[in-house]
Amino acid sequence: MFASLQELVKESEKTDKSLASMVIETEMVTSGKAEVDIRLQMQKRLEIMKESAQKALDKPVRSISGISGGSAHKLWHWLDKNEAITGSVMSRALARALSVNEVNAGMGCIVATPTAGSAGILPATLITLQESHHFSDDEIVDALFVASGIGMVIVNRANVSGAMGGCQAETGSAAAMAAGASVALLGGSPRQSMQAVGITLKNMLGLVCDPVAGLVEVPCVKRNAAGVAQAFVAIDLALAGIESIIPPDEVIDAMAHIGKVMDKNLKETGLGGLAATPTGKKLAENIWNERG
Ligand code: SF4
Repeated sequence: MFASLQELVKESEKTDKSLASMVIETEMVTSGKAEVDIRLQMQKRLEIMKESAQKALDKPVRSISGISGGSAHKLWHWLDKNEAITGSVMSRALARALSVNEVNAGMGCIVATPTAGSAGILPATLITLQESHHFSDDEIVDALFVASGIGMVIVNRANVSGAMGGCQAETGSAAAMAAGASVALLGGSPRQSMQAVGITLKNMLGLVCDPVAGLVEVPCVKRNAAGVAQAFVAIDLALAGIESIIPPDEVIDAMAHIGKVMDKNLKETGLGGLAATPTGKKLAENIWNERG
């Protein structure tokens, strides 16, 4: 079931079907559900994504530990008065990515895309493109199915878990899904979509999972904003016809290999990287002492 991105591209070219319809057809076979029900379910997820992408913009959301929160609100309101260096589209997406992850850290409702820690990247990118390019909800739902197909291939060849593959597997996969889906949404070819996946992942290889106190907050919230930025880089490059010299499937395989050889201290144990800095350790100590 979609063991490679190349298979997705070839099948789409051979059958002249869109990536979204191929993924929906696969889902119809595996779930036994009708297309209308599958689309409705995705539409409901889109509504939750929109809520979490907006919630921390309207009002600061803080986590119970107190080590994250308020950044989405701060950026959003700063953008009201200032012109962002990253441009208005990307900067609004950055704020939305922060929002989803602050809602997650605050124990609110999010959609794991593909995980809770990386849940801000895909919604923030697609919702912001909907705003800037006036796409309908149906078009965004199609893009979410493209993202699902890409995620399926990554899971089949590697994994999307920080504990198994480091943050490259979580935020890297989320950014790759966002980039590939956005290229399809913006009218790029299936080949260009998959090139966006490869370009994104290449730029995020080796990223370690080092959450302070083992909580999905620091550096996770800001890494979601960084994942959005990586997705935007790849979207523009792929739409311009720039390709990855290393085929996208091989990039996924490289990510799987890097995840396997990565030190266990850098795979969600909270024992390495930023978690092991003096400040990271102090924050962890304070949090766990307070909780008794
Ligand atoms: S640092 Fe670890 S927990 Fe945080 S987003 Fe990355 S993979 Fe997830």
